[in-house]
Amino acid sequence: MSDALRTPRRLRHELKFRTLRVAEVQDLTPTLRRIVLEGADLDGFVSLGFDDHVKIFPVAEGQAPILPTIGPDGPVFPEPRPVARDYTPRAYDSAKNRLTLDFVTGHGGPATEWAMAASTGSVLGVGGPRGSFVVPTAFADHVLIGDETALPAIARRLEELPAQARAHVVVEVAGAASRLTLDSAAKATVTWAVRDGAPRGRAEALTAAVETALALVDRSDAYVWIAAESGVAKTLRAKVLDMGFSPRAMKAAGYWRLGGAGAHEVIED
Ligand SMILES: Cc1cc2nc3c(=O)[nH]c(=O)nc-3n(C[C@H](O)[C@H](O)[C@H](O)COP(=O)(O)OP(=O)(O)OC[C@H]3O[C@@H](n4cnc5c(N)ncnc54)[C@H](O)[C@@H]3O)c2cc1C
Repeated sequence: MSDALRTPRRLRHELKFRTLRVAEVQDLTPTLRRIVLEGADLDGFVSLGFDDHVKIFPVAEGQAPILPTIGPDGPVFPEPRPVARDYTPRAYDSAKNRLTLDFVTGHGGPATEWAMAASTGSVLGVGGPRGSFVVPTAFADHVLIGDETALPAIARRLEELPAQARAHVVVEVAGAASRLTLDSAAKATVTWAVRDGAPRGRAEALTAAVETALALVDRSDAYVWIAAESGVAKTLRAKVLDMGFSPRAMKAAGYWRLGGAGAHEVIED
């Protein structure tokens, strides 16, 4: 197959800020809360990449979000600048105009506090996605590695992979009860690295699981995707490079940072 079938594409979308209402709240696991948002503002919502993100603008219950507006040179932010955090559009149902986000719980922070307090009718400001990074599904092997914050993107990727693909998934979760059922047409192998009381944001459990789970994976036509705490994602990227996976078919990102708020880091050499 030609390289054109393996070249990711970056697509830009018109930036919109939306005010949405909570339609449903569901605890998928003890550490993952699903929130389904709805509203006419969702008209025209586009998310083409499994690891796209929206910016959410969480406010205290009862307050209305004050969102940026779109000026001639891009977004204009109100002062003081509203708190914003990145979340993966887990699913978008255009028929019902509903957007699903999955929130990792168990730590403090404005986004998590908003999700813990949310109930039907709560309001959330949402911006974007501004763009999508579309990774072709043509690779024979798809390696997906991450902690709980990566689960929405990983679940979405598994759903879009075709039956002829092989997927190798390694996810760190708090405990056995935090494992999810992941659907895929692809031949998927899922390894759960369970923390079992160890703190979040440490590389040991995932690194050990990666070493075992990926030992026999064919490196010749594999795409590797990693998202986790920033330092952990760096360690994992170095690990898979050391194991012989190609940096040309790899994307690694820090989805949060120990001791830092609202971090997003693209990890390269
Ligand atoms: C592209 C992208 C997509 C993302 N998609 C999702 C998603 O779909 N679901 C999701 O839950 N998260 C997702 N994240 C991660 C999420 O944006 C961060 O976890 C964010 O920091 C949470 O905001 P907060 O207000 O709860 O905490 P913050 O105010 O940002 O941080 C408060 C404290 O909590 C710590 N902290 C932050 N996140 C975690 C965590 N996961 N575990 C333990 N401690 C933490 C910080 O180190 C800090 O000390 C994504 C991040 C990126 C960059």
